[in-house]
Amino acid sequence: MTTKSDYYEVLGVPRNASSEDIKKAFRQQALKYHPDRNDEPDASEKFKEAAEAYQILSDAEQRAAYDRFGHAGVKNGAGAQGFSGFEGFGGFGDIFDAFFGGATRSGRRAGHDLEFEVTVSFEKAAFGTEERIKLNRVEVCDRCSGSKAEPGTEVERCSTCGGSGQVRRVQRNIFGQFQQVTTCSTCRGDGRIAKSACKQCRGAGRHRRERTIAVNIPPGVDNGTRIRIRDEGEAGEPGARSGDLYVYISVEEHDYFRRSGNDLVVGVEINMAQAALGDSVEIPTLQGTRELKIPAGTQSGRVFRVRGEGIADVQSGRRGDELVEIIVATPTKLSSRQKELLAELQVSLGEDGDGKDGIFGKIKDRISGEG
Ligand SMILES: [Zn+2]
Ligand SMILES: [Zn+2]
Repeated sequence: MTTKSDYYEVLGVPRNASSEDIKKAFRQQALKYHPDRNDEPDASEKFKEAAEAYQILSDAEQRAAYDRFGHAGVKNGAGAQGFSGFEGFGGFGDIFDAFFGGATRSGRRAGHDLEFEVTVSFEKAAFGTEERIKLNRVEVCDRCSGSKAEPGTEVERCSTCGGSGQVRRVQRNIFGQFQQVTTCSTCRGDGRIAKSACKQCRGAGRHRRERTIAVNIPPGVDNGTRIRIRDEGEAGEPGARSGDLYVYISVEEHDYFRRSGNDLVVGVEINMAQAALGDSVEIPTLQGTRELKIPAGTQSGRVFRVRGEGIADVQSGRRGDELVEIIVATPTKLSSRQKELLAELQVSLGEDGDGKDGIFGKIKDRISGEG
């Protein structure tokens, strides 16, 4: 057995404290250490200690025994089951409520939330879609509508609680006499009892079943977008709300489009001549193609912004832009005529001195310090 603290020290009262002082001291300790109010890890232990000390010291006979023989003189105080005055209580909350006049909660449990992942194509994510998803979830039994009774059979009022679903008990303990309200255990709070249980749910009122539901996926969703659909989770206990359904979006990759925020990014190849002389080229968009004017002298890597051809913002609906990155392709298979032309061009560019402006020329200049 572990060393126990002195009951008077626990409550912080002198050994000759009056019973009124002891009650006051416990009330303060209880308020301070109640686990609902105090997050410190040892709060519940302190609360328990204080309750135990109060239980002994508030009873004249036990207190006298404790004064004479210490902890050995009192049997009841120690251990988890030792709280004779607390029998019938669910825990600290109940003790606290009994002492301070709160009500015992008898909340019905809400249904569980459900999660589901949906994979959609790049285009469907951009323009929105409706997906049918198949869930396996707990629903209110459709045979008995949650009444738990086989249809056509009688339902009796619960005799334990008289149909209220709650039981009031007058309890007498170390704190005095008070009334405790709990959920009726006979009918589990329903107030009614089915004479013959529903065959489908076996009297549970709820059952698990497959259900296909349509989920509206708005334009602009991206990887990881979460869509919350209220009340499409699992059914709760009778009278309690249902859980929600959370749909997580996963978007397939596109063959050539990439997404950057609400902008669409695409690489478009042009040849050297188009880059040098300028041209009008056809570029892909999400809905087809359109023309893009390439100005003369366009460098590889230059990005053109095509306004409004991007992806809709999932909140505002406003579309982003399409960013077209130009890639100037160097030809690899040349005819002899093309080689002739390029050789001429090479000579010509060299004479103009343009060739020196190339990257290699610049690097050379920098190294030699002539630039
Ligand atoms: Zn049923
Ligand atoms: Zn009942």
